[in-house]
Amino acid sequence: MFRKKKAIFDKINDYLIKKGHEMCMSIYLNNYNGNNIYIRFDYVKKMSVYKVVWVDLNFFNESRMEDYINSQMMTKFLAMKLVNKLTKEEHESCYDFNDDIIGDRVEVLTYFNEPREYVFDRFLPLGWDFLIDPLAMIFSYLPRGMEVFLNEIFGKYDQLEERYNYLKPVKFDLLHDDFNKLFKAQIIERGEKYFTGGKVSFLEKIENKYTAIVDGTVPYLVVLECVSDSHVLMWCNCKYPTFCKHIYAVIRAIREKKFNNFYKVRYIGSAQTLLDKVTVGNFYLCFGVEGDKLLLVTSEGNIFPANIMHKNKCVFEVIEDDDECSLSKYLEEVKEK
Ligand SMILES: [Zn+2]
Repeated sequence: MFRKKKAIFDKINDYLIKKGHEMCMSIYLNNYNGNNIYIRFDYVKKMSVYKVVWVDLNFFNESRMEDYINSQMMTKFLAMKLVNKLTKEEHESCYDFNDDIIGDRVEVLTYFNEPREYVFDRFLPLGWDFLIDPLAMIFSYLPRGMEVFLNEIFGKYDQLEERYNYLKPVKFDLLHDDFNKLFKAQIIERGEKYFTGGKVSFLEKIENKYTAIVDGTVPYLVVLECVSDSHVLMWCNCKYPTFCKHIYAVIRAIREKKFNNFYKVRYIGSAQTLLDKVTVGNFYLCFGVEGDKLLLVTSEGNIFPANIMHKNKCVFEVIEDDDECSLSKYLEEVKEK
């Protein structure tokens, strides 16, 4: 990924050199939450000022660089603090790669005394405290929205690693890995009860995604998306902030091949756009009914109750039912009412 983009860095560098910028430090957020952001701390000799420069490479047009390269002057006081701090810094280049993480790489280069490189995945490693102030100072000159990156980068220092790691692809072999790798003992115990109690009522694999409904106090939706051969994105709509008993129960069901397909329905009403968001191809996953509503699963992973009838017309047709044709029969009953 870095190599592919190198030409772009060279072009940005050439552009800034022409503007009289000398690079003191750069930070590259490489596929960080899907973002590619190039940030620099530059000295502009002819003006005797330091500037923070940033470019969002996901939205970059080489032919109109001046519109895409943003910069902001840093106050002299703060800039000198930053320079002094890093000039005195004696840390050699260091690297902290984490095989469990896809993307989310941060590449920091400094050009004080001699060029140095500090590269890590997702979280600034404990013990690299010397980078905390420089990063915080530079980020304070970036648009507000970029704070989220800084907060996550400092996740280890705030002890919020687990919170950030959840909702990201995690290295886990769904069929073979030890549950203890992700799940706490008491979650395993509770999840096991859910599984053996037959609470995983629907489970289906479509392409690279498992979708499941686990019956609890309310139905919980679990989605496990295999983003690569080794990494899975796991998600449940319950309130537990990390890998929960519902996800555990679903993985157990996958291992025991306890699949139970969802009902599939097609929307045949006229207000097509209303339901665009719940489409999976040209059908919707459905796990039951509640009064005059079908319980559908949206492609974003939400439960969406949809009216069966619209202006006295049934707006759904069943394209996959269970052996007893329960859903088709139910729709007939609703129609006759
Ligand atoms: Zn859950």
